Amino acid sequence: MSARSIAVAVALGVGALRPSPAPAQGLDPHQSLAHDIFEELIEINTTDSVGSTTQAAEAMAARLRTAGFPEGDVKVLGPHERKGNLVARLRGTGARRPVLLLAHLDVVEARREDWSVDPFKLLEKDGFYYGRGTTDDKAMAAIWIANLIRYRQEGREPERDIVVALTADEEGGNFNGVQWLLANHRDLIEADYALNEGGGGAIKNGKYVANRVQASEKVYQDFTLEVKNPGGHSSLPVRDNAIYHLAEGLARLAAFDFPVKLNEVTRGYFERMSAIEPEPTASAMKGVLKRPRDPAAVEVLARTPYYNAMMRTTCVATMLQGGHALNALPQTARANVNCRMLPGDSPTASA
Ligand SMILES: [Zn+2]
Repeated sequence: MSARSIAVAVALGVGALRPSPAPAQGLDPHQSLAHDIFEELIEINTTDSVGSTTQAAEAMAARLRTAGFPEGDVKVLGPHERKGNLVARLRGTGARRPVLLLAHLDVVEARREDWSVDPFKLLEKDGFYYGRGTTDDKAMAAIWIANLIRYRQEGREPERDIVVALTADEEGGNFNGVQWLLANHRDLIEADYALNEGGGGAIKNGKYVANRVQASEKVYQDFTLEVKNPGGHSSLPVRDNAIYHLAEGLARLAAFDFPVKLNEVTRGYFERMSAIEPEPTASAMKGVLKRPRDPAAVEVLARTPYYNAMMRTTCVATMLQGGHALNALPQTARANVNCRMLPGDSPTASA
């Protein structure tokens, strides 16, 4: 079911999770609809700070109602005026329990001044789409809505109800839509299973060669590193300095690699992908599967952040604070280290 849905997404010509060729012309009516929905979603600011997922949810609800969905099957609900969630239902025969198609409407903050283009305008350039949320996760939301409308237009009556939920605050914020729906309207999203973001596909020379299925999440864990010092005047420095101590620790972290640990899923992934990846990646994937493991192969694969993160727990410095005056020795220096642990690793484990 997952693979089939992703294939449908690719057939619509809208990249599910990675930038994909953006065909400017020659779209059939369904592809055109998917494109228009995608554009509408990108151009509604749904950031936590000033955006509104309610506005995006209402826009999608309006499209569904226009397509003939009854009022009772299209709901926009939420705990806050800017944090609405859409839940829509295409009714099936009821022979089987519903399937839930999930995507989030909110996007990570995007400051206009950090971008060379407007992040809230869909841009097609050199065969790719640009705009905040093009890959995470508005393509998916657009695909679900476009498909739901298509099923309705074609008069389909599946064995299961198909429920689409487009939610708020997946990226952060205080009103996570999935949690809120589970706590307040569980009946609306109750399903046999749900399809969510996290997989993806690959196209090689115009041929679909892979559909990826996400099996688990790495575990998010922040650590604060803090160094305290009595301080003093900067005209009389001493070697014992909070900023230097912290910097030395961070430099050691920068040079450190957690051990490679593969599991059933990542082993299977490298085995199958080694058949379609180009060299040197293909040989490196085979090398990390060897017993004993080929350390040179690990090194090659680890150069790609995506593969490195699949093979091991990672920890990286993300924020830094220290000192309190230009002319004082620092009394405190602090860093945030963000880790993504492999399932099964523990925050208290020492590497
Ligand atoms: Zn996402």
